[in-house]
Amino acid sequence: MDLKLYDTLARDKRAFAPIDPKRVRMYACGPTVYDFAHIGNARPVIVFDVLFRLLRHLYGADHVTYVRNITDVDDKINARAAERGVDIRTLTEETYQNFKADVAALGCLPPTVEPRATEHIEEMKALIERLVASGNAYVAEEHVLFSVPSMPDYGKLSNRPLDEMIAGARVDVAPYKRDAMDFVLWKPSKPGEPAWPSPSGIKTPGRPGWHIECSAMSWKHLGETFDIHAGGIDLVFPHHENEIAQSRCAFHTSVMANYWMHNGFLQIEGEKMSKSLGNFATIREVLADWPGDVARLAMLASHYRQPINWTVKGLEEAEKALASFFDAASASADPRPAPGVLDALLDDLNTPKAIAEMHGLKNAAGRKALAGTLAFFAFRPDELKAWQAKHVPVLTLSKEEIESRIEARNAARKARDFKESDRIRDELAKLGVVLKDSKDGTTWEAAR
Ligand code: AMP
Ligand code: ZN
Repeated sequence: MDLKLYDTLARDKRAFAPIDPKRVRMYACGPTVYDFAHIGNARPVIVFDVLFRLLRHLYGADHVTYVRNITDVDDKINARAAERGVDIRTLTEETYQNFKADVAALGCLPPTVEPRATEHIEEMKALIERLVASGNAYVAEEHVLFSVPSMPDYGKLSNRPLDEMIAGARVDVAPYKRDAMDFVLWKPSKPGEPAWPSPSGIKTPGRPGWHIECSAMSWKHLGETFDIHAGGIDLVFPHHENEIAQSRCAFHTSVMANYWMHNGFLQIEGEKMSKSLGNFATIREVLADWPGDVARLAMLASHYRQPINWTVKGLEEAEKALASFFDAASASADPRPAPGVLDALLDDLNTPKAIAEMHGLKNAAGRKALAGTLAFFAFRPDELKAWQAKHVPVLTLSKEEIESRIEARNAARKARDFKESDRIRDELAKLGVVLKDSKDGTTWEAAR
């Protein structure tokens, strides 16, 4: 039971040792709730759900706390609410409910806690006031800024050259910044924008910056330091770099989290997903065509640190694989990954290897272990069956009829009557039966 995880900060796989095995603690940055989540957003949800399941298996379900936040204060939220003429809370609540339903449909467990940023304003202000007191932050023109030069370790996670970070930070140059890299902890709100009483020393009501939200929520629910912090690779800089700076300086600790995990990005049919390219897909849209478990398995077919190319072909393959697992598995078993599957997951969540192991269990000796593995992932046979009933053409031929036609075709081929053998093959194809010839003979499967 030796779990190894790739730690972005160490740039290496490291043996996982929790601070307290009775309370293993992980945090993942969650969605900003202003619109339906896209299929790229589903990747961290699915990947870190596997980690959550694995940790529960290793340490006990009651000994793992998984926190995934909801960012419900953000300029994009303000803009969308104004555009739609609804109030902010209505928009964020509706979007959060949609997200929750999407994630459940994908077959992912809900996290232990789903804190909302707007319910942690007091914690954010407490952190900000500590940072000002310790000289790591300063007030300027009704803003509070984190002073990057006050933290000598800044930049260790992203390991970027200083000039590159400065160039990134210059995107929002502001006259009140002492240093180009300093970032906002608190800013004044304009009339009509959400606003709270500001930290001490500032009169104008204001709102928090994005990075401080996660430092406050992880502190509240997991403590000053915790085991794993996760998110998409795009969050390494500046978001996670800034979270580390805030939390470490506020608590005078040498780490914020002991392991930093990042999933690679998702592309669609080989291209960056974007609204302008017209290849943007929400989780909702994917779920309209596919069972949630098929989408989840398709996501896990690539290793989480690699980029993933999301394709219809990948979904088709996942559907076939899942159907073949359910066909081969015994009816039920306790949730428990088969030894080969467990070994693969223990090696930095090697899900492609785990899936290959599952294919290897499709035989009489493996059917119970396969059932246990399917239950571990909580793949749902009924969901797949219901989907197949709608999408997989019903065969009008019986097994015996198909086999007798295959025999007739074999006879025709033996007699070198290829016209007749092709005719039989084409006729079967029209009836939804696909033949596969190999050196061991001819097998068939239902067309999908
Ligand atoms: P956001 O709502 O944009 O803050 O994103 C929520 C989560 O989804 C973060 O962990 C992002 O890193 C992740 N994410 C966003 N886009 C993609 C993508 N195309 N592929 C993989 N992960 C993504
Ligand atoms: Zn975060």
